[in-house]
Amino acid sequence: MTYGKILEEGEKLLLDEGVEEGRLDAWYLFSHCFSMDRGMYLVKAGNRILQEHKEAEASFRSLIEKRRQRIPLQQLLKSQEFMGFEFFVNEHVLVPRQDTETLVETVLSEEKIWVMEKRPYKVLDLCTGSGCIGLSLARCFQGMTGAKQDAGGNNGCCPPDMEIVLSDISEEALQVAEENIGRLRCETVCRAVRSDLFEAFEGTKFDCIVSNPPYIPSGEIERLSPEVRDHEPRLALDGSQDGLEFYRRIGREASGHLVFGGRLYLEIGWDQGVAVPEILYAAGFTGIKVLRDLAGKNRVVKAVFPGIETEK
Ligand code: GLN
Repeated sequence: MTYGKILEEGEKLLLDEGVEEGRLDAWYLFSHCFSMDRGMYLVKAGNRILQEHKEAEASFRSLIEKRRQRIPLQQLLKSQEFMGFEFFVNEHVLVPRQDTETLVETVLSEEKIWVMEKRPYKVLDLCTGSGCIGLSLARCFQGMTGAKQDAGGNNGCCPPDMEIVLSDISEEALQVAEENIGRLRCETVCRAVRSDLFEAFEGTKFDCIVSNPPYIPSGEIERLSPEVRDHEPRLALDGSQDGLEFYRRIGREASGHLVFGGRLYLEIGWDQGVAVPEILYAAGFTGIKVLRDLAGKNRVVKAVFPGIETEK
């Protein structure tokens, strides 16, 4: 058996199973198991598999089998890149999507002025999952403010009076977020807090709240790809019957946790660009904007809490 042959076999197994990017997925798994880049592979493709690679061969076969069962590639590789950073992922969190980079980029450009000037500056990332949103923000804010890491390398990710809270209802997801706080060396600025939305934040106000909540209507989950439907956490996807339950709850509760003039940024489904602004408008938010993703679809809603105090 040669390196070329085993890769080809893997590709065929995935393509026969109807895995859309079967060839590419087989290559990533191969490269991961055999620690080979493309150049090395091209040199060795015709060689017989070395004895020292027997274990790599076994793990490649087993990963191909798992991919055939539609376990997402990123769960097999335990990793996904997002905003140029490498995140640890497993079956307890949603794999970071490219769509969500639109949310992060919106926050970066709209918040820049506050990031530079406002102290203290506090951000809450609700339904954080892997932590990819809050942690990318932390790392990019670091670039904006020019904050340096200290000699230990794991400190000073952002100026000291900046805080980013990553929260999730799922204990397992929070463990992933914690792992990523460490990997991205954001210990001084980010912390993970278990909370059912705002439950744990009684009396705390933030400058900015950002969230990619579950927003798929329950009845549509069955129509998603097997990777998402069968292997990604339902808890991170199911937005109740009409998909809007979390927007209603966040709309009701967020204003109690924002400073006057505080901003709320939400990822939405492509067809929720009217319903979500309506919910936020009814909840007293102003300055509501809907932004599109790279595919031109509605993807992000920004809203401002004007801070009008009403008589109780
Ligand atoms: N965009 C995700 C998907 O298509 C869903 C994300 C979410 O519900 N927050 O699977």
